[in-house]
Amino acid sequence: MITVGVLDLQGGVAEHLKSLEQIPEVNPIPVKKKEKLNNLDGLILPGGESTTMGKLINIFNLKEPIIKLAKQGTPIWGTCAGMILLAQKIKDETNHLGLMNITVQRNGYGNQLDSFVVKKAIPEISDKKIPLVFIRAPYITEVGPKAKILLKLNNKIVAVEEDNLLVTSFHPELEDDLTMHHYFIEKIKNNSI
Ligand code: GLN
Repeated sequence: MITVGVLDLQGGVAEHLKSLEQIPEVNPIPVKKKEKLNNLDGLILPGGESTTMGKLINIFNLKEPIIKLAKQGTPIWGTCAGMILLAQKIKDETNHLGLMNITVQRNGYGNQLDSFVVKKAIPEISDKKIPLVFIRAPYITEVGPKAKILLKLNNKIVAVEEDNLLVTSFHPELEDDLTMHHYFIEKIKNNSI
């Protein structure tokens, strides 16, 4: 079994757990306490509100253990606010976990009313067009030399991989399509070879 944690402090936790439950070999678990970070094969930082989540990470003493997990090479996927949490630089703000060499622009597409869905293939992953849900989404303005850009939308970077870290501006857990979740599970499997 592949044990995948979903950081359970705020935001779209249930939706990620539900997507993971549909993949037979995966054991999804909500993670509130640092003890639960032990023995994870992968971790998802969900969407929500990054300032609130960042504060809760500190209150629950999860910052150092998550950084340790990432440095050990455990795959971590940040969706939307989760991507903001992982970024080394956030425009005009202090960072949270500072793990991935990217600069992000929060609320890059405007406010809640400017949320949108597009159908697009991510050629690095699959030729299938999948629905990409953007909700007050951030985008990436700069990446480091080790980054693999997976997707740009209108010239803005919205999905990147760097070593064991994966980030998406959009929310695959809000649609039935499991392409991105399968991709993350494959990443975990390749990591343990
Ligand atoms: N706008 C939110 C933030 O800046 C992220 C939105 C989301 O996760 N859907 O934290």
